[in-house]
Amino acid sequence: MAGKKKEASLQVSVTNQEQWEEMLATKGLTVVDVYQQWCGPCRAVVSLLRKIKNELGDELLHFSTAEADSIDALEHYRGKCEPTFLFYGGGELVAVLRGAKAPLLQKMIVDELSKEKLVLEQGGERKAIKDYGLLGEDKEEEEETQAGDEEGISVPDSKSCTVAIIKPDAVAHGKANEIIMKIQDAGFEILAHEERTLTETEARDFYLHKAAEAGFDDLVRFMSSGPSHVLLLSRVEGSATVAEAWRDFIGPADVEEAKREKPESLRAQYGARAPFNAVHGSEDAEHAGRELAFLFPGFSRTASSRTEPAAEEERVERTLALIRPRAARENRDEIFARIHECGLAVALQREVTLTEEQVRRFYPQHVEQDLVFPALLQSMTSGPVLAVVLVGTGAVVRWKNMLGPWDVDRAREESPDCLRAQFAVENQPNNQLHGSDSPEEAEREINFFFPRQRTLAVIKPNAVEEHKDTILKEIRDGGFCVAHLKELLLSRQTAEEFYGEQRGKPFFNQLVEFMCSGPCLVLLLTKENAVEDWRAMMGPADPGRAKEASPDSLRARFASDILRNAVHGSSSEQQAEEKIHLIFGDVCPEAAIGSDGEADATASEKAENSEDGKPEL
Ligand code: ADP
Ligand code: MG
Repeated sequence: MAGKKKEASLQVSVTNQEQWEEMLATKGLTVVDVYQQWCGPCRAVVSLLRKIKNELGDELLHFSTAEADSIDALEHYRGKCEPTFLFYGGGELVAVLRGAKAPLLQKMIVDELSKEKLVLEQGGERKAIKDYGLLGEDKEEEEETQAGDEEGISVPDSKSCTVAIIKPDAVAHGKANEIIMKIQDAGFEILAHEERTLTETEARDFYLHKAAEAGFDDLVRFMSSGPSHVLLLSRVEGSATVAEAWRDFIGPADVEEAKREKPESLRAQYGARAPFNAVHGSEDAEHAGRELAFLFPGFSRTASSRTEPAAEEERVERTLALIRPRAARENRDEIFARIHECGLAVALQREVTLTEEQVRRFYPQHVEQDLVFPALLQSMTSGPVLAVVLVGTGAVVRWKNMLGPWDVDRAREESPDCLRAQFAVENQPNNQLHGSDSPEEAEREINFFFPRQRTLAVIKPNAVEEHKDTILKEIRDGGFCVAHLKELLLSRQTAEEFYGEQRGKPFFNQLVEFMCSGPCLVLLLTKENAVEDWRAMMGPADPGRAKEASPDSLRARFASDILRNAVHGSSSEQQAEEKIHLIFGDVCPEAAIGSDGEADATASEKAENSEDGKPEL
């Protein structure tokens, strides 16, 4: 094909050490796509590179692809499935980008090229960097083996992990995603990521070491005022611990000082006056260990080393598989048989006919690719797509390995047993199966096809004081995300409206009085099937029946009687939306495909809107 030839000349193919050195000697900026033999170069960016080359037409700009498996210098990039681009100027590494993020890649190419020109034309100094993906891994592997020798280690080595929090101020201002990108670009690896609203008690315990300091109460109130993003970070690093590297990256706690002394730090960029300084970092390795145990109690050692293939295999993950219309029609059973054979379980599945708009939203990274997108769009809209959530240890990589190379011709040549080769369709350039690229992408993609439902939960006045923490923990353990949380004393009017459905019932007045008798904790929960699942966790309204029918339910354990039955939950999706509106105002939905084509909200977007439209209480 003519297209292929063009691609070959656009990117110089480097497949051995000798060619690698030749490439390093090339004058100008070279952008190298480092790829794994089994998945091939990142085709997703080819048309972007071509566009850039055409637009800039610069002789000093070069592209190449380099196979990690056969080039000694790339030893440490082997086995990583994330697309990686290395930028070399005058044989020195000047920048690294992980992930096929088109806008960022474009910006980096333009920036790095102009820097390289400054060096070449005006004798500027080239700023070489070190990629932590290339450094010190041997050392970390050693450490991990040692840690692994000891039995019963339940948390990662605190030297290699630290806890970071994107605080409620930054989240509420919609900065979470931007900050997360910066974190990744700075070479930190995000091992775990959770959005959660700390309760006052949790915030108090978390900052216990600051209890004697002025402003402690403000800090606690602030930290429990809305959702935060809690992150577990690691970084492959020679000398400093990741805790130190992270603290250095966020800058001084005092934002004014940060602006003066470290203007590029996160706090200088995103913070305001105390206590609103946007981000948190564990003070040192010891604190990191404690905070890790506090915020990620279920975190196991194996998850600390995601870059290590063995560990990846041990982690239970979800991934999204898409079986495109043709294969969904013709090969569904065989594909499911292969899924089961390799030990992955099917957690959710759904058939949907996508609109063009939806395909564009699902594949933002491919939309601009003139060579790829039209065929992809055609194939994705030609009938119902089968979306399947697969669960298992190392599911993301395992499913990717089963799929084989993206390019159908390559799949056939190189691994004829892989699913993309086996279920390829004659005369169709596109493969028939999709798999998520990373656990993070998997969650985005799963949420696209299986949007989370929202429900309103209330911990009623009789249970707030004594059982709030237990109930919250069980909610989180049950897989719900607490998108909003508010402790409040209901006014009579709000309570009446809240229980509008019960108006006229003999117990209505009693119920309203009870609900206003003390503070309630109101929660906006999200999860797939949230309404029903939360009702199942609560159990029947009458604790007598609850004890019989579901003795483990919250009401069986914490209800005093049918009136004071500890918790409330919406009984339908529609009721949930009404009551969420009543309590939290307009918390606006995100664009994803819902069961009825409606949009649903992500927790973070809801959070960003939480300031608006609160009811008068
Ligand atoms: P649920 O809370 O499970 O949705 P209902 O919607 O039927 O249950 O009732 C709303 C609330 O009214 C109950 O949670 C309970 O607090 C109260 N309630 C229901 N039935 C009675 C009753 N017979 N006597 C007193 N209070 C009741
Ligand atoms: Mg009800």
